[in-house]
Amino acid sequence: MATIAFIGLGNMGGPMASNLIKAGHAIVGFDLSAPAVEAAKARGIAISPSAKEAVAAADAVVTMLPSGKHVVAAATGAEGLFAAAKGGTLFIDSSTIDVASARAFHEAAKAAGHLSVDAPVSGGVGGAEAATLTFMVGGSDPAFAAARPLLEAMGKKIVHCGGAGAGQAAKICNNMILGISMIAVSEAFVLGEKLGLSHEALYEVASTSSGQCWSLTTYCPVPGPVPTSPANRGYQPGFAAALMLKDLRLSQEAAGTAGAATALGAAATALYTAFAEQGNEGKDFSGIVEWIRTRDET
Ligand code: NAD
Repeated sequence: MATIAFIGLGNMGGPMASNLIKAGHAIVGFDLSAPAVEAAKARGIAISPSAKEAVAAADAVVTMLPSGKHVVAAATGAEGLFAAAKGGTLFIDSSTIDVASARAFHEAAKAAGHLSVDAPVSGGVGGAEAATLTFMVGGSDPAFAAARPLLEAMGKKIVHCGGAGAGQAAKICNNMILGISMIAVSEAFVLGEKLGLSHEALYEVASTSSGQCWSLTTYCPVPGPVPTSPANRGYQPGFAAALMLKDLRLSQEAAGTAGAATALGAAATALYTAFAEQGNEGKDFSGIVEWIRTRDET
């Protein structure tokens, strides 16, 4: 049993911290938001008056924060978490952040004498509640070995992707595929409609042919063929368009820095930006099919 500080108890962090408690660990949580703190208390999570006090007594620290600037600001500097922790503490950042911030996080952790992994997740709030998240992990072998048992209490698949920042790299590459493939599937259904093809017929063909992909067979953007997809409940998320857009923007930032040609990633980012700006940020990202249907390219 370890004492774990959990910083960031929002939609994902709250249930993830709960699962660490269920696995027998002692959790000391902290969040800046009063509603998040109240929700965490209702889950039985002990709350510290400050992040610094939470980490001072911890063997490991998990951060689950909105973006890279939040993670770097919280962790580094004279008043940051690295300075407040005892030497050799394990830091796990599970937020989805840009690769450059993830590398800065690792460098500062190392300079302060700590172990660190970037360990972003896929699986959403449902996966966080059910402890079935996939963790994509970047960091040294000893840091990964130390983090693994804690990640196993919160997820069902743990992949060591490589050194510092490799987890974030895997996450944004995967989600760039997802954003592009959802648009591809949506465009195919809209084209099929205009050609007089039924959703069912296109689904039956494509789901067993070379067009098969997760966006089609698990998350089909039109109602009917996959009864559990958000299309059957008015595009309630699921995975909100705002989060898809965040990840696509991170992919484009990384592509620019790395000099990778990602023309379809750029196009998907532009389309999700336009979709989100028209009041659809809170809809499931598969709702883009409705917006594509209203566009007239003639
Ligand atoms: P959220 O906004 O619900 O939670 C983030 C929490 O961090 C908030 O409660 C906020 O008050 C807190 N916070 C911000 N700065 C802080 C600080 N300095 N100290 C303490 N607390 C601070 O967001 P979420 O949905 O839980 O997502 C967290 C991360 O996980 C994001 O990076 C997101 O992209 C990623 N993610 C989310 C999902 C999802 O489905 N929600 C899926 C995969 C990954």
